[in-house]
Amino acid sequence: MSGEGQTDLRVFREEIRTWLEENNPGTPPPLDTVEMREWSSEWQRRQFDSGWAGIDWPVEYEGRGLSFLEQIVWFEEYVQSGLPVGHSCFVVALAHAGPTLIARGSDEQKATYLPPILRGETPWCQGFSEPGSGSDLASLTTRAEIDGDMLVVNGQKVWTSYAHLADFQELLVRTDPAAPKHKGITWVICDMRTPGIDVRPIRTIDGGAHFSEIFYEDVRIPIANVVDEINQGWSVAMSTLAIERGPAALDYQLGTLRDIDALVELAKQRQLLKNDELAARLSAVRAEGAALRSMTYLSVAEAKSGAAPSAMTTAVRTFWGELQHKVGRLAIDVLGSDSLELGTWSAYWLTQFSAGIAGGTKDIQKNIIGERALGLPR
Ligand SMILES: Cc1cc2nc3c(=O)[nH]c(=O)nc-3n(C[C@H](O)[C@H](O)[C@H](O)COP(=O)(O)OP(=O)(O)OC[C@H]3O[C@@H](n4cnc5c(N)ncnc54)[C@H](O)[C@@H]3O)c2cc1C
Repeated sequence: MSGEGQTDLRVFREEIRTWLEENNPGTPPPLDTVEMREWSSEWQRRQFDSGWAGIDWPVEYEGRGLSFLEQIVWFEEYVQSGLPVGHSCFVVALAHAGPTLIARGSDEQKATYLPPILRGETPWCQGFSEPGSGSDLASLTTRAEIDGDMLVVNGQKVWTSYAHLADFQELLVRTDPAAPKHKGITWVICDMRTPGIDVRPIRTIDGGAHFSEIFYEDVRIPIANVVDEINQGWSVAMSTLAIERGPAALDYQLGTLRDIDALVELAKQRQLLKNDELAARLSAVRAEGAALRSMTYLSVAEAKSGAAPSAMTTAVRTFWGELQHKVGRLAIDVLGSDSLELGTWSAYWLTQFSAGIAGGTKDIQKNIIGERALGLPR
């Protein structure tokens, strides 16, 4: 990078810091309700109006057209400002539906769907998993039959985050049951207000209801909504997953570093750093946090170069999941019996278990590392 570029980035960082100080909403987002959608829409709109939405999205679709480096600086400052990370029903739209459309959508699809995402108007959700088709995603059975210029969808999805708040869905359907399982799948944009869609929220152990099961009965979707070609959806889904498992997790991963600092501070306040065993464990997670930061930047750079999802991205994700588990366990030990009350850290402990499941379980990730990086037999 040139010296001039470095100076620009410093100025850019300073601008972000000032803007976040002056515009921090001040209140945390409400959880999982329509109020969450209102809060997220308003906050996203405010970022858009000031030029902080879609920093690396193309200018013709109302992004800033800057590089991913500037986007990283935004995430770093955002996390540093103390704002909650990921608590938004725009996560799917901004982190992987939009980027998938940028990579694989038609010009018309991009023009239709990208600007409303950046303006905070249209949250999206992801309809990939089904009962019986999670790890083995290619075995999905939600069926779409062609009827003129429409697809008619019947079947069921599950674990769909923010489905009850979303306007659109990145939906995987089986369009050719006779083809080998990876070859008969289609990635299609589904309008969640289409008749025949029934969204049923699922309550979780931390008291929320952020995801749902969804039933589709004769849901009619224009074939014009297919991204890429009919029956080419597996390749589009791999683009989505490469983004979801790589760049899309960056702000969350930086958020874990912030969590570690907060936990060390809590242990300090409770005079627990005199406990050698606890202090050693806290030092170890802090060191692992520093390692996570370096590995994250390496894997994001690799994913942004357009390379196929690699064992490196998977290794970082596995390391991050294990680190969240250690941080959560340490938090319980720092709090002792106070952790029995539901609060920030006990919710963290309950939620971290999902880090080893969402976006591909830790066992599947280890299979990928074993087979692709270590060359072990299947
Ligand atoms: C918080 C959260 C949010 C989510 N949001 C969404 C969403 O928005 N949209 C969406 O589509 N999905 C979502 N999911 C679903 C997620 O993608 C799936 O849960 C995940 O892919 C695992 O699939 P499964 O639940 O069917 O488990 P299964 O695939 O049934 O796995 C059950 C167990 O068997 C193990 N296993 C399975 N196959 C193998 C194997 N070959 N080798 C070794 N072990 C194996 C797994 O590791 C796991 O422990 C979400 C999940 C969570 C936890």
